[in-house]
Amino acid sequence: MVSLGERCSPSGRAGDLAALSELDEAALLSGLRERFLSQDIYTDIGDILIAVNPFQPLPLYGREVSERYQSLQTDSLPPHIFAVAGRAYHAMLGRRGGGPRNQCILVSGESGAGKTESAKLLLQQIMNLCKGNSQLEQQILQVNPLLEAFGNAQTVMNDNSSRFGKYIQLRFQKNIVRGAKLSEYLLEKSRVVQQDAGERNFHIFYYMFAGLSSEEKEIYGLLDPSLYRYVSGQFGTQNVAQRWKDKYQEVCNALDMVGFQEQEQVDMQTILAGVLSLGNVTFDPEESNGPVKVSEASKGWLKAAAGQFGVQEDELLKCLVCTMSVTRGEQIQRFHTQQQAEDARDSIAKMVYGRVFGWIVRKINELLAENVDPEVELREIGILDIFGFENFPVNRFEQLCINLANEQLQHFFNHHIFQMEQAAYKEEGLPWETITFNNNEPILNLLLAKPLGLLSLLDEQSAFPQATDKTFVDKLNSSFKGNLHFQPARGHVLGFSITHYAGKVQYDARGFLEKNRDTLPGNVRGLFISSVTPLLSVLFTATVSRTGTLMPHMKAKIIPGADDKFNSTRKQSVGAQFRHSLMVLMERLYSANPHFVRCVKPNSQKEPGVVDNQMVLLQLQYNGLLETIRIRRDGFSWRPFFEEFAERYAILLVKPGVSLTKESCLEILQSTELKGWICGKSRLFFKYWHQEQLAKCVERLERAAV
Ligand code: ADP
Ligand code: MG
Repeated sequence: MVSLGERCSPSGRAGDLAALSELDEAALLSGLRERFLSQDIYTDIGDILIAVNPFQPLPLYGREVSERYQSLQTDSLPPHIFAVAGRAYHAMLGRRGGGPRNQCILVSGESGAGKTESAKLLLQQIMNLCKGNSQLEQQILQVNPLLEAFGNAQTVMNDNSSRFGKYIQLRFQKNIVRGAKLSEYLLEKSRVVQQDAGERNFHIFYYMFAGLSSEEKEIYGLLDPSLYRYVSGQFGTQNVAQRWKDKYQEVCNALDMVGFQEQEQVDMQTILAGVLSLGNVTFDPEESNGPVKVSEASKGWLKAAAGQFGVQEDELLKCLVCTMSVTRGEQIQRFHTQQQAEDARDSIAKMVYGRVFGWIVRKINELLAENVDPEVELREIGILDIFGFENFPVNRFEQLCINLANEQLQHFFNHHIFQMEQAAYKEEGLPWETITFNNNEPILNLLLAKPLGLLSLLDEQSAFPQATDKTFVDKLNSSFKGNLHFQPARGHVLGFSITHYAGKVQYDARGFLEKNRDTLPGNVRGLFISSVTPLLSVLFTATVSRTGTLMPHMKAKIIPGADDKFNSTRKQSVGAQFRHSLMVLMERLYSANPHFVRCVKPNSQKEPGVVDNQMVLLQLQYNGLLETIRIRRDGFSWRPFFEEFAERYAILLVKPGVSLTKESCLEILQSTELKGWICGKSRLFFKYWHQEQLAKCVERLERAAV
């Protein structure tokens, strides 16, 4: 078999699988496999980059490599994540033809496939490309360690698994970075209070235990890690402890560097310690007609939590053991059951952690907001690192949201690669063999339609105090009867299945309503606003706006204890917020020039040098890559209008006064050695490599002229 590395595409690029004459499933798989085993983890399919996780450090990212990939002409170099960074950066500046434009890079793949590492490498290389070594660039690079400490955790799939999605927008004026903006999606807050076997809580807790000195721990009120219910996993070996200690230092440095103040850092850690103490508060079974009681042994934890949160112990207790509501001007107190008290405890913990995380993101955005020259236009490069399609033994509300995001991204991908291509062919009267691809619009409709999509029905039910997960499922069953993408659960299971573009997923409907409502128990908000810890007060004074950013409200307007009813009716459901933030994201993506990085996990044991064919093939299918290959190879990805083309390449005719017509275009093209393009009614059709060939022609000419 011919080594793929030696085969060159018509563009002269080694490692471009789109160049294979016979490219089918088997050829793609064996191509990837062969390259991977010789440590070529990157492979191109046209301008889509496939990255196979090596699960070992490879010498691929050193300074020398970074410099090599900074030039405008990287097509003779092997495929690399740095080449994608370069393409996006140069295209943003308009150096690759087509004028300056916003860019977005979509990194996708399943958990542990290497998305976050790829996104970090992209960011790093883009910062190298702007070469300023400015303070801002250094700050931007610190964002990742910070976010990872608070938003990543060890899971069965990945030791450093991101438990949130993120989109980072780098803002430029000319070639200089001026600011950055971060959006986060769906932090998995439930991890704070519970972790499955073999998994851990968010890294930051472990870093704190390992990194804080005993005096500091005393200040924060942190005891031995093994005492805390919310913190699972071994604290084990010396090595691990040392690594966490180093990580803790890294986080502190990042906090300093990005610009968090000393007092804010202290408050934040005190609040996190409070979350852990709160988690240790347990309750005795309720007696008739009385409130549940905090168990004797955990009274100390309640006291500790109150101290750490800077609130009155009895007020905190009230939030746990009863709900206050105001009906017709009268305050009514309802005692919790043991279960309700435990739920209240856990939701307070989740809420506090979620708000700390949201605050960190908001703070980063304030500190990295652009400092712009109003005369120069802003351009951006966005990098999306978001959880891939999920199909677990048990799938919950979170999986539904994640899979919805993936449906939208798949739709974007389809739209870009397939539909635009097809539409343009039709318009220009070119022949087109009808291609088949899974148009997932019907699934998007099933989920998003108003007023009868799944999320809308969920919201409708969530607004009903009497509704239950059962009534929700009944509603779905009757509304989606006969829908090809929806199947009711069999037997007595409370759930339903959806046939996603990537496969059928069975959802467990238990907890959907509660998770969608995400209401704060009792008088928690008022309690925390009154906290003497300034940060905690801030966290609860701000409410989440539609766009997911926090809006500070006038503190004085909120009367502790009286706001919750008001607040809960005004508050948007989790589903509605997510739908909205996805919509904002999709708008950004559709208005930018996209680049795709598809990460592949070669095996589930996280072993270097091992390829599980079946697993890889499934990912290529989920990714829509198999289809893409054919389209890419056969298709014409660059389609300039005659005028646009003639204007740009008239220079190749070396004569004055070239008119901007079809005839001039043909004359220009005949003067080059380009082959394989097609002329339509109003525009030309080129293969993806033609643009690079033309750039070379221009370069040759310019060199000759000097
Ligand atoms: P994802 O974000 O897709 O869940 P990560 O980016 O966190 O996955 O990658 C999981 C792990 O795989 C990393 O912690 C790292 O050990 C390894 N890894 C990923 N990409 C690379 C790479 N390019 N080189 C070396 N190791 C990598
Ligand atoms: Mg990740």
